[in-house]
Amino acid sequence: MSNVLIIGAGGVGSVVAHKCAMNSDIFSNIMLASRTVSKCDAIAATVKEMHGVEIQTSKVDADNVPELVALINFFRPKMVVNVALPYQDLTIMDACLETGVHYLDTANYEPIDVAKFEYSWQWAYQDKFKEAGLMALLGCGFDPGVTGVFTAHAQKHHFDEMHYLDIVDCNAGDHGKAFATNFNPEINIREITQKGKYWENGKWVETAPLEFHKSISYPEIGPKESYLLYHEELESLTKNFPSLKRARFWMTFGQEYITHLRVLQNVGMTSIEPIIYEGKEIVPLQFLKAVLPEPSSLGEGYSGKTSIGCQIKGVKDGADKTFYVYNNCDHGAVYKEVKGQAVSYTTGVPAMIGAMMMLTDKWMKPGVYNVEEFDPDPFMEQLNIHGLPWNEEINPELPHDYD
Ligand code: NDP
Repeated sequence: MSNVLIIGAGGVGSVVAHKCAMNSDIFSNIMLASRTVSKCDAIAATVKEMHGVEIQTSKVDADNVPELVALINFFRPKMVVNVALPYQDLTIMDACLETGVHYLDTANYEPIDVAKFEYSWQWAYQDKFKEAGLMALLGCGFDPGVTGVFTAHAQKHHFDEMHYLDIVDCNAGDHGKAFATNFNPEINIREITQKGKYWENGKWVETAPLEFHKSISYPEIGPKESYLLYHEELESLTKNFPSLKRARFWMTFGQEYITHLRVLQNVGMTSIEPIIYEGKEIVPLQFLKAVLPEPSSLGEGYSGKTSIGCQIKGVKDGADKTFYVYNNCDHGAVYKEVKGQAVSYTTGVPAMIGAMMMLTDKWMKPGVYNVEEFDPDPFMEQLNIHGLPWNEEINPELPHDYD
């Protein structure tokens, strides 16, 4: 029985709040805090209506460490689940250290003025968390998150050595909007417009943005054009599974989405360089975010499914082996359960399960860790219980070239 503080009241924060409330044997007292308290209150009202659980709400600016410290000291949670934006990771980690509480997030830190994400900033907190006897679990959404747990599961149960990893992420849903992003627009567009990158033979190979693409067939969905992107879990997975000769990440995008993105880029709307507009400094991408639909608003009427998984080739008992483990999640079913959409759900449920792993001491050791550094079994078990059941295929034919 533990108090948990959730920071961030967007699409993901809403799912985390619902799922914690649905597991009140573990999360006995829940507080949802964010920059705009009315969003917390609206989520709390829906949670109360759907699950009969009261959650507390508060306003907090998570860029401000003293404000965070005051809130944590007031509520005294055992841990903080950070589902605000990656810009707030370090301030929230600092506040956790100052107040002696554990930490979990779903996206690695990136500075607001440079579109670059990597684990170095957060891994640098290793000694501080160890010395304080506290744990920080990084990247516990779906990707990063479950994709790391899937990879650890593959290593533990299916391979002596893994050589090739392809993470394949498909959203075959239709939200009926001409252009919208399924998680925070600013973070999403920064990620997609960056150069691509993959790991091969001990080094990173860079590509132009969305340069490589091919058709990949997804279970119960069929073939979808999938684009090679750099994704943050590649950094920790290649470090934690050094037998990998190649590791790549593929994501589907519809032609409409790509056309809109190209136009927005060409006219300068995706830039993070400040400009002066009517005497005031604005960042074009932040302005664009303000006019796009909020990810949390997409759920109603969203149809179709997501499918995210790991396709792996390696060796078991001296023979070549292929393996595919994946989850499919239905947008409509998510809306019925928690009034959200599948991209928020596939992030929020693993965040709740990660918190559950920590609070029940299944995954608990002082320091800063990525999910694949823990035993995958109890996490995989909980995925099946809490709405993200997984399937696996042994020795399927995989849609990739191998040396
Ligand atoms: P949203 O934009 O819907 O929500 C973000 C929330 O954070 C908003 O409530 C926002 O407040 C709040 N926030 C922003 N800045 C601050 C601040 N300084 N202080 C307090 N609160 C703040 O995004 P999502 O819910 O879609 O995404 C949340 C996180 O999940 C992101 O970091 C995203 O990268 C990550 N994610 C991870 C995935 C994974 O699989 N690992 C997949 C999808 C998302 P306000 O409403 O006032 O703007």
